[in-house]
Amino acid sequence: MDYFALQNGELYAEDVPLSRIAGEVGTPVYVYSAATLRRHARVFREGLAAVPRVHCAFAIKANPNLAVLRVLAQEGFGADVVSVGEMKRALASGMAAKDIVFSGVGKSRAELAAALDAGIGQFNLELEEEGVVLAQLAAERGMTAPAVLRVNPDVDAGTHEKISTGKAENKFGLPIDQAPEIFARLAKLPGLNLRGVAVHIGSQLTSLDPLEAAFNRIGALVRELRAAGHAVTHVDLGGGLGVPYRPGEEPPSPADFGAMVARVTKDWDVALMFEPGRVIAANAGVFMTQVLWVKPGVTHPWVIVDGAMNDLARVAMYDAYHAVEAVRPSGEMITANVAGPVCESSDVFAKARKIDTVKTGDLIVLRSAGAYGATMASTYNSRPLVPEVLVEGANYAVVAGRIAAETIMSEENVPDWLK
Ligand SMILES: *Cc1c(COP(=O)(O)O)cnc(C)c1O
Repeated sequence: MDYFALQNGELYAEDVPLSRIAGEVGTPVYVYSAATLRRHARVFREGLAAVPRVHCAFAIKANPNLAVLRVLAQEGFGADVVSVGEMKRALASGMAAKDIVFSGVGKSRAELAAALDAGIGQFNLELEEEGVVLAQLAAERGMTAPAVLRVNPDVDAGTHEKISTGKAENKFGLPIDQAPEIFARLAKLPGLNLRGVAVHIGSQLTSLDPLEAAFNRIGALVRELRAAGHAVTHVDLGGGLGVPYRPGEEPPSPADFGAMVARVTKDWDVALMFEPGRVIAANAGVFMTQVLWVKPGVTHPWVIVDGAMNDLARVAMYDAYHAVEAVRPSGEMITANVAGPVCESSDVFAKARKIDTVKTGDLIVLRSAGAYGATMASTYNSRPLVPEVLVEGANYAVVAGRIAAETIMSEENVPDWLK
């Protein structure tokens, strides 16, 4: 459920007409709804009401905008970060260091040190050597680093291969069969408080079965570690819950997910951590763009819009589907292709899609763009970096400005010998 809906024939974000934002901020632009973010955060937490000791860490990579993080901090969420840049954002948004989890397969030594100095709550280790280095860095500081081992359960998440992370051949996590010996060696190191395990098998999961299979393997590993005399107090079950992108899609709800988690983990007796990203943010945002031209095509007309793959990469990267809607629908429909101005044939948002009839100057939105949208934007083709707006009730604010090509150029330099 979200708070983007038609009022008097025109699409609104909460109580603000999208056309007003387009008029005042320009297009292309991302628009987020704070009420939707808050609702998703609450529904996710309520889904887990039957599970004792839950910690929710928003996966910042899904949407790192400071205002978005501030809303989620107010909802009691911590953060799952994959770089020091993301850690700085979490801290700047008011999240407590102890509520930050540091994931990622390639944390640099400098990043590990910076995260220790910030006092973050947990390091999710990806390989034994990382644990050795972290233990050393912590010992040098007279600290003990709270850590868990991320294991790869070798489960097929059944999602797009580019967002699948839990198969043995993926780069993420330690092979689950090697986890007990690695755990035993790392647990001995002073400087490390190795307290549990983590798993994350992929994103946009539309079935609970692979998650349940992975969690069952984690449960067996927890029993094995305890049998070997280790204290296991924390398990991080990652993120990955899918969202509806197409009309009629009904992925498992947070309540379904919570019921499965409660059943599978009932004897675990650990603090459980979750790292939802997409399920919180995706449907809390739209990408708004204006029609530049309607160009005749061989089979269908090309609706050329001012937004492009550099602003919203998901379609070009993952063949993703985003629903296309006119901000002021006339009631008439056409079958068309929707594409941006970037000089790549992959810069196409929709092909042979039945959409509202639009003409030059009309506004359209691509729905479900609040996660993995602006965060992946670039300035390819020397386009400005796309701005972001947050709406709450009748208020809205530009929460990330449009960064002009001139500003990017000002960081570039022609060396003296070329002058
Ligand atoms: C990307 C990621 C997440 C979030 O995934 P969603 O599908 O957005 O919920 C959580 N944990 C880790 C380790 C990740 O890499």
